[in-house]
Amino acid sequence: MKTPPSLILVAQGDMMPPMTLSTNTTPTGAGNRIAQIVLNIPVDRSFDYTVPEEMRAHIARGKRVKIPFGPRVTTGYCIGTATSSTVRGLKPILRVLDEKPILDADMLELTRWMASYYRCSWGEALDAVLPGGVKRESMAREKMFASLAIPAESIPATAQALRSAGREAQAKILEWMVDTPRTPHVAEITKTVGCSLSPLTSLEKAGKIRLERRRVAPDPFFDQSVERTEPLALNPAQAAVVKQVDELTDAQTFGVVLLHGVTGSGKTEVYLQTIDHVVREGKQAIVLVPEIALTPQAVRRFRERFDNVYVLHSMLSDTQRYAQWQAIRQGLPGVVIGPRSAIFAPVRELGVLVIDEEHESTFKQQSTPRYHARDVGIMRARRQNAVVILGSATPSLESYSNATGGKFALAELPERVEERPMPKMTIVDMQNEFVEQKRQVILSRLLVKEMKTALDCGEQAILFINRRGYSTHVQCRRCGYVLTCEQCAIALTYHRSGEFALCHYCNTAIGVPGACPDCHGPDLRYTGAGTQKVEDVLAQVLSEARVVRMDSDTMRRRDAYEKTFCDFGEGRIDVLIGTQMIAKGLDFPNVTVVGVVAADLALNLPDFRAAERTFQLLAQVGGRTGRGSKEGKVIVQAFNHNHYSITTASRHDYAAFAQTELAQRRTAGYPPYARMARVLVEGKKEDLVMALLESIAAKLKAARSDTVRILGPAPAPVERAEGSYRQHLLIWAATAKQIQNVLGMADGLLKSTASLRVTLDIDPTSLM
Ligand code: ADP
Ligand code: ZN
Repeated sequence: MKTPPSLILVAQGDMMPPMTLSTNTTPTGAGNRIAQIVLNIPVDRSFDYTVPEEMRAHIARGKRVKIPFGPRVTTGYCIGTATSSTVRGLKPILRVLDEKPILDADMLELTRWMASYYRCSWGEALDAVLPGGVKRESMAREKMFASLAIPAESIPATAQALRSAGREAQAKILEWMVDTPRTPHVAEITKTVGCSLSPLTSLEKAGKIRLERRRVAPDPFFDQSVERTEPLALNPAQAAVVKQVDELTDAQTFGVVLLHGVTGSGKTEVYLQTIDHVVREGKQAIVLVPEIALTPQAVRRFRERFDNVYVLHSMLSDTQRYAQWQAIRQGLPGVVIGPRSAIFAPVRELGVLVIDEEHESTFKQQSTPRYHARDVGIMRARRQNAVVILGSATPSLESYSNATGGKFALAELPERVEERPMPKMTIVDMQNEFVEQKRQVILSRLLVKEMKTALDCGEQAILFINRRGYSTHVQCRRCGYVLTCEQCAIALTYHRSGEFALCHYCNTAIGVPGACPDCHGPDLRYTGAGTQKVEDVLAQVLSEARVVRMDSDTMRRRDAYEKTFCDFGEGRIDVLIGTQMIAKGLDFPNVTVVGVVAADLALNLPDFRAAERTFQLLAQVGGRTGRGSKEGKVIVQAFNHNHYSITTASRHDYAAFAQTELAQRRTAGYPPYARMARVLVEGKKEDLVMALLESIAAKLKAARSDTVRILGPAPAPVERAEGSYRQHLLIWAATAKQIQNVLGMADGLLKSTASLRVTLDIDPTSLM
């Protein structure tokens, strides 16, 4: 591997322990007497099983097996075979589940690395890699497919001969098939050609086509047809980036390119053309998007250019996912699109990996294994000599400092395509609005005026507020009591639609009391506007507008996003109100006004990334306007309107923001100037939670060196959740290796028990 030493990773590859496992996979004989199996349990070791004689030809590394484990029968992963074991009295495996290994050597190594870096078991990491549908092997119904059995060049003559013999339908079928890039199924042919089955069977009998039964899934692309588009003529900045990436992919060397391009600068076109370059070489690409909601849009743009586009995400049915997985495994040149977990798509030859909106925290999984898809992706690409493109208008400070420090290559698209201007951002001081209007308002006069103007011109608007529900606090006017979840130390959010107050942590809902539960005062006030409240206010000030609210309350159904985006795109909606789900990636040329209802919301959170999140949010939201030929306006409402994250964002000045923020991070010793880990302990008994964390802290502190800092034990920002007390420890160190070394000292204690839940988070993105 020709990895240049300068390309050091976000996640350090040197954490991998030496592989002690046999890689003997000969399909016969004595070498396969013992199978080494790992399981999806938090125990990081493998277990030996004997392989019965009749299974020895079938067992292999990367296959799943059924095994007895304690009192139950469970599924395990074979990670190696051996001739003998040091353990006596082994049990036999019961069945080999896969005909061919479901995990190849690359995937086994990648998951081994994940397990050691994120400190989970190999079995847990393997389990994360395989989607549900694959594990359950959901089978789709079989359908009959048709393919040509004669060369394409001979079709015109054959069709002509058939035609003169009066066999018009057969001629048409052949002509249609030769023009169709896919392998169609029979029903598709009879429908488009308008014929019965008999011409097809005649063609088969005559040896001109083949008919075969195969399993297929229902089309995951929502049955839409797309029109092919040609690659756009690149502007000089785009062309330079494409050239830079093509050179890397041609050299077949690993490399990471941070593509810092403002919103609307044509990053997607760069992805399309760099991917086209590797697909032409017969390779595959993976494109990660930050949200499932953005998958359909991305899929459409890629289907306009590529024959083989696959999707992998959790909203597909098991059957669909299974079929997509199997199709990807066939290794046809093409593109896999999906959120975080698509990083594990079983592509054979990875050419390019694109991580779009690389700064998004959704790339970090918030359950075991707590992996970051960007870092896993970089490891994967390194193993497969592929090129990674990290795309963003607002790169994470981690990636940005890797790029300015020379670890990643930096590519920039500083301007929008076709000289479109960046949207004009105006900050509205909501304190001042309060003083002048003598009351608390949700929508400022300027924002309302701009929306009216836009709608009068037949244009559209987006209103963004990052909380759902009606109001985030229900408070007694007399004693100040705030309605709080009994299970969690969290204020309940009032939801207008059902007249209930909901805990956004544990989803417990209670009826809203008529009076204060504490002092029985009669007057409750509702503060902290959410999406529902904004919807209400909008109905008063713009009563004619067609408004749709988009948040996780209204978008429960699988196809709801797609339908709303489609309605908005085709002008059946004037104003879209939404949470973060509408802040990213969308491209609606007719949107000319974007309102950010409360830009400083995130600044109040106890999180060292609060300023970064605020800047990112404003830049992304602003990017939703002015994408067509019309100019766009962004109205940013905030109380804390002088904060540097808001002022730099309003000037579109990422560099200035990064400079201020990085200086503060350096002083405080936060990432990217340090690596972090978090140990969270939760339990019903506060004293037990404390006691465990204190003994963990004692172990860690004993191992501590000058370059390691430990904070805590301290209550987590959400002190109580679902009836459990929550305390945590934060660890900072100069390198990932140091973090691992320190954690290694407390290894035995970092395990959940019946009464305590221990969560270990490496490179945490949320400290709540
Ligand atoms: P980004 O991903 O950087 O926000 P997009 O790739 O979505 O930007 O591009 C914004 C718009 O500009 C899209 O409608 C796209 O089709 C168009 N576009 C991109 N590149 C070009 C180009 N070279 N010439 C003309 N239009 C382009
Ligand atoms: Zn709760």
